[in-house]
Amino acid sequence: MTDAIGIAVQVQAGDRRAVEVIAEALSRLDDAAGLNAVVARRDDAALADAAAVDRAVAAGQVLPLAGVPVAVKDNLADAGWPLTCASAALRDHVAADTATAVARLRAAGAVVVARTNLDAFAMGSSTERSIYGPTRNPWDRERVAGGSSGGSAALVAAGAVPLALGSDTGGSVRQPAALCGVTGVLPTWGRVSRRGLVAFASSLDQVGPLTRSAADAHAALAVMAGPDPLDTSAADRPLDPWDPDEGLGGLRVGWLQEAFEPPTEPRVAGAVMAALGRLGVPLSTHALPELGHAGPAYLVLSTAEASSNLARYDGLRFGTPAPPGSAQPRVDARALLGEEVRRRLLMGTAVLAAGPRRALYARACAARDRLRAALDALFEEVDLLACPTSPTTAFPLGARLDDPVAMARADTLTVAANLAGLPALSTPCGLVDGLPVGLQLIAPRWAEARLFTAATALEALQGKTNAVR
Ligand code: GLN
Repeated sequence: MTDAIGIAVQVQAGDRRAVEVIAEALSRLDDAAGLNAVVARRDDAALADAAAVDRAVAAGQVLPLAGVPVAVKDNLADAGWPLTCASAALRDHVAADTATAVARLRAAGAVVVARTNLDAFAMGSSTERSIYGPTRNPWDRERVAGGSSGGSAALVAAGAVPLALGSDTGGSVRQPAALCGVTGVLPTWGRVSRRGLVAFASSLDQVGPLTRSAADAHAALAVMAGPDPLDTSAADRPLDPWDPDEGLGGLRVGWLQEAFEPPTEPRVAGAVMAALGRLGVPLSTHALPELGHAGPAYLVLSTAEASSNLARYDGLRFGTPAPPGSAQPRVDARALLGEEVRRRLLMGTAVLAAGPRRALYARACAARDRLRAALDALFEEVDLLACPTSPTTAFPLGARLDDPVAMARADTLTVAANLAGLPALSTPCGLVDGLPVGLQLIAPRWAEARLFTAATALEALQGKTNAVR
């Protein structure tokens, strides 16, 4: 499978037809079936969409993503298609309209071929808590693909599609990208419209691309970014121009000391440090003690917001109704949300309830403010911050299912960017015991271009991505 930009150039030039590209992607989806990454396929619709792209190109239209196959996480709406969030509560739900991010990719010539697996309602770090069963990691099928956008990451890593969409509330694009050896981007909060994204925690949620190169991620983001009358949080802020051939210049990179210490595995830390060393830019070390509070603050704030956002799945307006004769119809309807989602909603309701626990919410807000201020201060000294994306490589299926604390540890290095509203990117930087390691770069608000510049330099140093071919 060629990269997204390569496909678009060929289709635009008339060297290849979109219908051929899409037919090939569909057969690659067949080959990848064992990963359990796909929850719904659009074969006929995708071929029809591809034919329309071919007609538009023949008529002289310029489409930046002409014929690019894309897979979409099953928490982003696409009118007329199932939108289940991998939860029994939405098993029969069909989307009434289309997410702005999806609509913009399509308007740019991309063709949606499939919908991908996730942890129910994007709550999880392994894509195991899904009514469809777990997604498997293409590098080792007995291991998790990461989560919650694990289906999207596994498909890109397997070479079935060059581009997939995920959502990232606390790491759900970057962490599976790291564990599957692909590129994943969390845009600046407000960069991409969330219209049509099923809300988890609104002050943290962003839609982001998963690809096999930084340049492809940039191409997708350039199309998706920008204001949206249907989502006032989407800023009127064009993506900075980015030249893929621009060198690193005097880019100053700082590494976050705490993120390289346990519980980060020493060999993961070593792989990331070695890659940073190869970059050949001025490196400095920075302490960020506020990082220690990021995980707990994320837990409080994300569950509080989720308890409000998910209140609608009571089986009346949204969600599957409880069976007739249920003793408590709303409670029984909520049982369909599943154990993990209910655990979070209970926690969120508790921290928002009047009483002494309410202080936790205020403390989490204060921790978030301090983290944001500390990161802003670091960006007075450096242009980018770097650390591992995940403290470990992909873990075995089932290993953390009974241990929510161990599961949440997978997110300790990713939640900070969400809490601070900063853009971040995970790029593959090597292997430990044959499993991919992700290097995370964090930039100041709206400075995604720096992420793409540094990630492109890293790719060149190690021969494109490590993705499974
Ligand atoms: N793994 C984190 C969680 O379970 C992040 C999820 C996400 O980013 N959607 O909350």
